[in-house]
Amino acid sequence: MIPLNATHDPALRSWVESANLPGHDFPLQNLPFGVFRRAGSTEPFRGGVAIGDSVLDLGALQPLAPFGGRAAEALTLCAQPVLNELMAAGPEASGSLRMALSGALRSGSPLEARLRPLLIPQSASEYRVAARVGDFTDFYASIHHATAVGRLFRPDNPLLPNYKWVPIAYHGRASSVRVSGGSFARPHGQLMPPGAARPELAATRRLDYELEVGMFIGASNTLGSPVPLAEAESHIFGLCLLNDWSARDVQAWEYQPLGPFLAKNFATTVSPWVVTLEALAPFRVPWTRPAGEPPPLAYLDDAAQRRTGGIDIRLEAALDTVRMRAQGIAAQRLSQSSFGDSWWTIAQMVTHHTVNGCNLEPGDLLGSGTQSGPAPSAAGSLLELTAGGREPLTLGDGERRTFLEDGDRVILRGWCERPPYVRIGFGEAAATVLPAVRP
Ligand code: MN
Repeated sequence: MIPLNATHDPALRSWVESANLPGHDFPLQNLPFGVFRRAGSTEPFRGGVAIGDSVLDLGALQPLAPFGGRAAEALTLCAQPVLNELMAAGPEASGSLRMALSGALRSGSPLEARLRPLLIPQSASEYRVAARVGDFTDFYASIHHATAVGRLFRPDNPLLPNYKWVPIAYHGRASSVRVSGGSFARPHGQLMPPGAARPELAATRRLDYELEVGMFIGASNTLGSPVPLAEAESHIFGLCLLNDWSARDVQAWEYQPLGPFLAKNFATTVSPWVVTLEALAPFRVPWTRPAGEPPPLAYLDDAAQRRTGGIDIRLEAALDTVRMRAQGIAAQRLSQSSFGDSWWTIAQMVTHHTVNGCNLEPGDLLGSGTQSGPAPSAAGSLLELTAGGREPLTLGDGERRTFLEDGDRVILRGWCERPPYVRIGFGEAAATVLPAVRP
């Protein structure tokens, strides 16, 4: 686990005034990395770091050579249209850069006059996925989600016997991972309507979201070399928000025996900002299992995991509809949960993924699986919130939903809060559902 250092000091203030506002996602203690350019421009995308309501342009900072040593080396890796090389350089490189940026953005820094012209408002920026994602794997790490979904698909046998032992995942599709702010057409797929004699090809009628945490892999491991649990976190660059959009009717028909395929690979939305594990250090929590539950196999268990393997990231999904936007009604929260309730930790997921020698590459994306809490109201998908579509939700403006309608926009948010530390946030991962296009 990364120890606390001067960058976590709750007393730090920035000369970027908006970064000091209470409740802001991007105070000086956060410093998440992303890839951006001015909105509507033809500028090249390059690395940036979020501070308050602005982006510090790391591409423009690099030629000014403000830092020395490892921070200077790491900064050169940020002047590129993807951050795979920064991620590959490992936590010491990104940590050195974080320390240097923390000093440069601090109130009273002698660099203020040189850096102030390099701030671009986030509202005037557009983003890309922070890395070129070579591979995407999505886990199933919330036992509350697995149990609730299992009950809908198999009422008499909700949790399969492997669940408590194996960090279950499916190999997803990297090509359809998109940054927040976009839209996608309601997908078509093969589905079997209830009572029908044969399946049909149709636009999904049960389109859903999944509230997840994403992990960007940093340093790679060599093919054939598993990553031991104690080293797993040194292979994770940072975390983001992730929506694993799902077509439940397609999924129900296709998922046996090999798991999800076209039900999930048409779109995945991630937040633009990647919060480093170092920034998350104050928010680590014990990883626990309820009394009576079996401990995992030895390769997935150690004292460090039990002490601080979890991360208390508060997660929230919200919805706004065409009508709500037209009437100026704010997006409505659907549920809240915490990543601290996950059955598996980020380190356990990396170690299990590589235990057979599978190699992870810089910029690979791992999803946590839908993060549902123990209470039914903390469910991270509509499938759970509406009991498989049987119990519609009534929204604040009187509209009803079982699954998503055309024009609906789902907004995921996440943040960490633990006094006396300064609250940090992930921004948002949002996208809008468009009408289906006939294939
Ligand atoms: Mn998922």
